[in-house]
Amino acid sequence: MLDIQKIRADFPILTQKVNGKPLVYFDNGATSQKPQIVIDAEVKYYQEINANIHRGVHTLSQLATDAYEISRGKVKDHINAKFAHEVLFTSGTTFGINLVANGFASILKPGDEVIVSSLEHHSNIVPWQMLCEKTGAILKVIPINENGELIIEAFDALLSEKTKIVTVNHISNALGIINPIKYIIDKAHAVGAAVLIDGAQAVPHLKPDVQELDCDFYAFSGHKMCGPTGTGILYGKEEWLNKLPPYQGGGEMIKEVTFEKTTYADLPHKFEAGTPNIAGGIVLGTAVDYLNNIGFENIQHYENELLEYATKRLLEIEGLKIYGTGKNKASVVSFNIDGIHPYDIGSIIDKLGIAVRTGHHCAQPIMNFFCIPGTIRASFSFYNTKEEIDQMVEAVKKAQTMLS
Ligand code: PMP
Repeated sequence: MLDIQKIRADFPILTQKVNGKPLVYFDNGATSQKPQIVIDAEVKYYQEINANIHRGVHTLSQLATDAYEISRGKVKDHINAKFAHEVLFTSGTTFGINLVANGFASILKPGDEVIVSSLEHHSNIVPWQMLCEKTGAILKVIPINENGELIIEAFDALLSEKTKIVTVNHISNALGIINPIKYIIDKAHAVGAAVLIDGAQAVPHLKPDVQELDCDFYAFSGHKMCGPTGTGILYGKEEWLNKLPPYQGGGEMIKEVTFEKTTYADLPHKFEAGTPNIAGGIVLGTAVDYLNNIGFENIQHYENELLEYATKRLLEIEGLKIYGTGKNKASVVSFNIDGIHPYDIGSIIDKLGIAVRTGHHCAQPIMNFFCIPGTIRASFSFYNTKEEIDQMVEAVKKAQTMLS
């Protein structure tokens, strides 16, 4: 059992008023709030050990390097990677996906196929389109059904020896649907294709085990899991990271540079050119510790309760339709009200202190599938409460009355 009031006290922003009303923050899918321990760790870094890493022999540089590498180790343990050098620090999910898509440009031939799904965030669509344009590969798309679930037989039918990489999200940001990624990974491997999992929306809710999943790449963002913005991780299997070319050239990623030829550093440095977000990387480790102290089983159990409660309460509203009605879901409710634009509801409830996301959630193909301009998305975290859900429901009812 989680002591939610005690947890809420860890998050200073939750005591704020917005537009004169207590903040109800239901935009966790966009970014999570940060606990004081994470904020303090960022301040402590700059106050006590700020220095560049991997290059100085002086004490501060060594302290900062140690802290950065300790954090990498924490992430390695957290996702159960085999080696710490399979864990690359990035600026976020988008960067990680682009790194892999860019690397595949040296592997794909015209006529090869890349499979994405209809449930993807634009950052797991556009890099692959760019890759296909560059290489002459063909983009294939797994369709979804009315519940917002992947049509898995259609995925089976798309797979062939032409498939070189399959890339899907673990959890859909727009609908909250949890995808059957283990099935997808095993099936893709059976035809010799690599698999990238976009874990951006999964890591706030669960602890991925990359060895058990056997995925080739797993990308996620630190800012959605209580860490700082501008941080992220790309996990890649050692053999794949050795096979892919570097993404960016510069300092730190080389062994030796001459004008005739440059040789690259070993993993993970080959993919970490330039001065990284040192503070962010270190503090991401603090966020991982914080979440593990709360416990992902506790988080999932409680968030499921919030999801069930919110679904039931919202469906009391006449004319309200939920998108993403599949049964395997994270704590996200995406909805619309008959005849009312989602933006109008979002703006009115914002005046009542309630922060939700409205729009296409960077997933326009899903909106096109449902023939809607967007949805109102309430995404819940373990620090939210049923009372806050009640406040949202009342606010939505009020907005509906005002707008109809
Ligand atoms: N994929 C998914 C499923 C997401 O929800 C997001 C963020 N909304 C991203 C990728 C991109 O993450 P970032 O902007 O942190 O790079």
